[in-house]
Amino acid sequence: MKKIKMTTPLVEMDGDEMTRVIWGMIKEELLNPFIDLKTEYYDLGIEKRNETNDKVTVEAAEAIKKYGVGVKCATITPNADRIKEYNLKEMWKSPNGTIRAILDGTVFRAPITVSSIKPHVKNWERPITIARHAYGDIYKNIEMKIEEKGKAELVFTGEDGKEVRETIHNFEGPGVIMGMHNTNKSIESFARSCFNFALDTKQDLWFASKDTISKKYDHTFKDIFNEIFEAEYKNKFEEANIEYFYTLIDDAVARVIKSNGGFIWACKNYDGDVMSDMVATAFGSLAMMTSVLVSPDGYYEYEAAHGTVQRHYYKHLRGEETSTNSMATIFAWTGALRKRGELDNNLELVSFADKLEKASLQTIEGGVMTKDLAMLTDLKEVKTVNTYEFIKEIRSRL
Ligand code: NAP
Ligand code: MG
Repeated sequence: MKKIKMTTPLVEMDGDEMTRVIWGMIKEELLNPFIDLKTEYYDLGIEKRNETNDKVTVEAAEAIKKYGVGVKCATITPNADRIKEYNLKEMWKSPNGTIRAILDGTVFRAPITVSSIKPHVKNWERPITIARHAYGDIYKNIEMKIEEKGKAELVFTGEDGKEVRETIHNFEGPGVIMGMHNTNKSIESFARSCFNFALDTKQDLWFASKDTISKKYDHTFKDIFNEIFEAEYKNKFEEANIEYFYTLIDDAVARVIKSNGGFIWACKNYDGDVMSDMVATAFGSLAMMTSVLVSPDGYYEYEAAHGTVQRHYYKHLRGEETSTNSMATIFAWTGALRKRGELDNNLELVSFADKLEKASLQTIEGGVMTKDLAMLTDLKEVKTVNTYEFIKEIRSRL
């Protein structure tokens, strides 16, 4: 068999623990036998990040800017335990945070759905994609505990010394206050990423906030989305036969539950944090959640939504059998290969991505799955397999 050729390299970012093990298996069993894989490899494993003072993460992000498409394995975000475990020089920042800061993007998360695993919401027939704004609001807030009687004010001082003041509250006794912000620039790039992704995937886009209560803060989000849509996307949406729809966040929650799915739900930062866990759980399993970072300049970075599956890795190190689900990592690869193929007009590569996804879905639909899914499925005859066997089963169907 002749292997599929690639013209432009894919930025490949290796990672940590169980997902690093799976990464190797996917390449060996599902990619290398079929594709003349052309990647620019960056090792974002914790040891390499420590050795390079995390320069490797920045270089990987720069490479995505150069080539346009990257695929990333899950990585350890260091905490105090990890500093000890790996003897780290510093508590290096989250690689995802570093990459996102360089590419300035929005993260889209969508479940991989299979007919044998029913969502908890029975009318959800198609996936719901959550687009979470990843900057500001309460994630960059300043808070204060008020201990005594007094006046709390919001003050803005312009560069020229001009002051704008608003009274927040006249406290009679103890209480709390909080200040938060966002920038028009960040909201604008969030809006453009959402509109572009909706066009890319041909799905309706919903956006919601609480503009009736927050007449300046949330209303600015609503206005920016609306202005950009009217000026830049309205015609394109009509041509693609998709819709942009704005509503209040509480109304959106009700509509999402009653919907059949098949749309993108753009959420402000906090709403996205909360709702993505709700949607992921309602669809079944974290191991079936895909994630893609889309930058306003049209760069794409694909990954699984889950972490490095540390508990399974320690079992693996002890020589015990693991049954780790590789679906989200496989779909990170297929997403990236398909996008690379589309950009390079490489139809063989696009078609390979489709086939690999189909083979993966058929494996599960056929009753062969890892433990996490075996516990959820309504299929009667199930063959529970280990990490490696699952990938082998996909290969035989591919
Ligand atoms: P995790 O890796 O997402 O795993 C949490 C639990 O979810 C697992 O113990 C497992 O449950 C289940 N699970 C997740 N993915 C699975 C899969 N593919 N197949 C089967 N079960 C799966 O989260 P964590 O263990 O809290 O975090 C481990 C490391 O990942 C941390 O160092 C964290 O910093 C990092 N992390 C990285 C990213 C990223 O790179 N994007 C995201 C999140 C976390 P059972 O143990 O019950 O089987
Ligand atoms: Mg969260």
